Amino acid sequence: MARGAGGKGVNSARASGASRGGGGSTERPLARMFLHPEAFRDGGAVLDGQAFHHAVRVLRMAAGDTLLLLDGSGRGWTARLERVMRSEATATLLHEVPEDASPGREVHLAIPLLKGDRTELVLQKCTELGVSEFHIYPAERSVVRMDGGGGKRERFVAVCRSAAEQCGAFRMPEVRLWDSARAFLEQVRTPGRLIAWEEESALSARDALGGGEPCTLATGPEGGLTREEVDVWAGYGFRPVSLGRRILRAETAPIALCALALCAL
Ligand code: SAH
Repeated sequence: MARGAGGKGVNSARASGASRGGGGSTERPLARMFLHPEAFRDGGAVLDGQAFHHAVRVLRMAAGDTLLLLDGSGRGWTARLERVMRSEATATLLHEVPEDASPGREVHLAIPLLKGDRTELVLQKCTELGVSEFHIYPAERSVVRMDGGGGKRERFVAVCRSAAEQCGAFRMPEVRLWDSARAFLEQVRTPGRLIAWEEESALSARDALGGGEPCTLATGPEGGLTREEVDVWAGYGFRPVSLGRRILRAETAPIALCALALCAL
């Protein structure tokens, strides 16, 4: 059994399988870990970097322990650790596990960079809800500037990875940072397109999200969206929608919008 895997309830999945020692009728959740697709070869996988650190140093897993390895694009396998070295471990894949808990619809989210660690908060919560692509764009009234990214993307990807591992996801969301809203808008591909605007009252987000088709959802910065900005987005097919009569904070609005799109079970 993966020692410590059930510990704090993090990094575990409902999938359970073979355990070391064979004596276990107790089914405990397996530790779950995303690896790069290239880490899988010849019926095995190599854990290094963050995955090695997490399995061996944090969860204190050893040769013979089982875990769930995910390639980030929807495939997962139960696997047994074979050799644990100083900074690398090898594993044998045992059984492919079918993807479960996949979100009911494809949702992409566009948000501006928010103050402090609020962008991370939105990425974490919306990964749990099932967003598959995050797009960070500069808004006219953005309080925080992009400044070329500066390691931000790596941090954002790490936040998404641990949120995805923790909630049972088989896929890693994509994270993209854009230099301009237009560059982002030019490549939007989903049929559904909504932008939450605090000055919209006619169309509610709930009504607009009824369909279930793939959609791109957008929200504005702490300073709000300008009318001109909303007109530009409307030119790319984004319908302005309301999230109710209260003004939500810039981190609350995207979480509420994604919950509306993804939590209608
Ligand atoms: N500073 C602005 C509010 C910005 S709220 C003001 O005081 O008017 C940040 C973002 O959250 C908005 O740009 C919008 O995208 C979204 N938002 C917040 N409340 C909303 C609501 N009731 N309806 C639609 N969008 C909302």
